[in-house]
Amino acid sequence: MSRPLIADIDLGALRDNYRLARDRAPHSRALAVLKADAYGHGATQCALALADMAPAFAVASLEEAVALRDAGITQPIMLLEGFFDAAELPLIDAHRLWVAVHSDWQIDALLAYHPRQPIPTWLKLDSGMHRLGVAPEMFVARWQRLKAASTQVTALHLMTHFATADALDPTYFRRQMTCIETLRQRLEAPICLANSPATLAWPEAHGDWTRPGVMLYGSDPLEGANDASRALKPVMTLRSELIAVRELATGEVVGYGGRWKASRPSRIGVVACGYGDGYDRHAQDGTPVLVEGQRVPLAGKVSMDMLTVDLTDVPEADVGSRVVLWGEGLSVDEVARYCDTISYTLLTGLLPRVPRRYR
Ligand code: PLP
Repeated sequence: MSRPLIADIDLGALRDNYRLARDRAPHSRALAVLKADAYGHGATQCALALADMAPAFAVASLEEAVALRDAGITQPIMLLEGFFDAAELPLIDAHRLWVAVHSDWQIDALLAYHPRQPIPTWLKLDSGMHRLGVAPEMFVARWQRLKAASTQVTALHLMTHFATADALDPTYFRRQMTCIETLRQRLEAPICLANSPATLAWPEAHGDWTRPGVMLYGSDPLEGANDASRALKPVMTLRSELIAVRELATGEVVGYGGRWKASRPSRIGVVACGYGDGYDRHAQDGTPVLVEGQRVPLAGKVSMDMLTVDLTDVPEADVGSRVVLWGEGLSVDEVARYCDTISYTLLTGLLPRVPRRYR
């Protein structure tokens, strides 16, 4: 019997969430974002599960794209940040990848390269995120340069990223949309704008392509949930077991630093999952954990290989009782709030020593 910790990945739920993204933006095509090993879920398995539905995939690096090609994925694969070095261009060409370009050095490198066939290229606009992208006042000139290079570049799109599409306050989102609309109309450009929150909440941002990521994995990115985001299904369920149970007298403490102190005679359960698996060490006392389907509070600091919960109100729980850290019955979004983080970091932070089991 090995250490009882496993991440169950429900590929049917992934397909349902992809379908929801597609139905939410019925006039767009949805590029499934599989970067960071599909947000910790396994990029190859997720790509294969979506292969008959998704017209294209997106990743963050050439290595991630080549791994998908090696696994037999034939769909277009978009490199969301393009290339980091012009030396990547021959492989981009050979693997028929799509690229986003955001900087002059990339445009220069692309136009100096002679591909076997023109490379589908999306020009990234900085519409307000101020991270990557061409400034609005330079955008038309860069667009025209790429447009004129028909032996190197094809299928030119305008791409941008939203800073606040998840927020209830629409002010900054609207400011970005105004910037985008002005250029779209002037250039008659096909567009790709929407991440998960914009796919879920902002139909005016759907455009020709959407780029849903975290919603595919069942996490709700919206500050204020809506009917669609509430219908998302968790894809990953992180399961473990109680490996020890102990009784503590009032006043005794638990774990490193003795952060949690028993205010009554207490039963403490030890779960085989810790920060060495990717469970966030910032989890506060009270972070919910499911034991045999019942919510119990985390009690004490998370250790490398285990964490502790207060079982006092669940007397039937014992060694071997089943534990869910997040997933079915306990949303990763809720756990993330107790860790003062977002679901993205919990999902992508799950470490390779946790086996993934696919169904
Ligand atoms: N597009 C780009 C450029 C991104 O960087 C990301 C993720 O960070 C996404 C799309 C997907 O975003 P989300 O996971 O919020 O849907």
